[in-house]
Amino acid sequence: MTAKRIDGKAAAADVRASAGRAAAFFRASTGRPVGLATVLVGEDPASEVYIRSKRVACGEAAMESFHYALPADTSEADLLGLVARLNADPAVDGILVQLPLPSHMDAARVIDAINPDKDVDGFHVVNAGRLAVGDPAALVPCTPLGCLHLLKAELGDLSGKHAVVIGRSNIVGKPMAMLLLAESCTVTIAHSRTRDLPALAREADILVAAVGRPEMVRGEWVKPGATVIDVGINRVAGAEPRKTRLVGDVAYSGAAEVAGAITPVPGGVGPMTIAMLLRNTVVAAHRRSGLPAPEGL
Ligand code: NAD
Repeated sequence: MTAKRIDGKAAAADVRASAGRAAAFFRASTGRPVGLATVLVGEDPASEVYIRSKRVACGEAAMESFHYALPADTSEADLLGLVARLNADPAVDGILVQLPLPSHMDAARVIDAINPDKDVDGFHVVNAGRLAVGDPAALVPCTPLGCLHLLKAELGDLSGKHAVVIGRSNIVGKPMAMLLLAESCTVTIAHSRTRDLPALAREADILVAAVGRPEMVRGEWVKPGATVIDVGINRVAGAEPRKTRLVGDVAYSGAAEVAGAITPVPGGVGPMTIAMLLRNTVVAAHRRSGLPAPEGL
């Protein structure tokens, strides 16, 4: 069997278009654009690239972005002061503090200073709690939300399926498990201490790999016909000297021989993350303004 390749780019384009339409409706209804504040502390090149692409995506969806680039030696108190100002700013619907923060800052304290209703990354403990108890007010982390979107588009009803999520991070693994549980999957969370992971993975109808280990999940780990979602983004040496390439946590070609459907890297989960950031921002704007939830998002 050769698995269907799940096209995350196309799915992300659809979500971005819906977010753009909702942003236009918001502007027509309220007289102001949806606003996203992005905060970058220091000059980490990867973070600069991420922030730039998020801001470009915002512009394409006719949302406004307000960018704050702070020097690496900014004090935590100054950053908390900025977060407080953004919380109080009516033009700001979403606040994104790019992680990682410099080591002299406590990232959890900074994230938890964000108004949960503007926490469009969904990392605040209040949003984690809302997700855990099934509160629809939750803003859900963008990457697992994007994975769920792809899974529902591929499989429709997920109820009763056995989902194995490899990885238990607060930003991917745990919220992914919560989302699948809310869809009435039987969910197993696997991690670095899990025994006989290949055998466990082989039981999965839905296998989500969010580990950060290049091509760890092999074809032999995949149940025939399973749907495989590869969250991993790993840069490895390329075929030519000094060239690198991106691979996922799943060994694509082997897994694609067994799976029913699989996301590639790049072009699978990655594009969904920014699309879901736009979705969360426009949804947060609607909620804050008392407008009904935007259609299709
Ligand atoms: P993390 O390092 O916080 O968590 C990794 C998890 O994998 C941990 O819970 C750990 O228990 C588990 N793990 C580690 N080694 C293992 C092993 N040998 N067997 C089983 N489990 C093991 O990482 P994260 O932030 O959750 O990210 C995971 C991957 O997803 C990374 O490659 C990251 O780059 C990628 N990622 C992609 C996106 C995207 O937009 N596509 C977003 C976030 C993260």
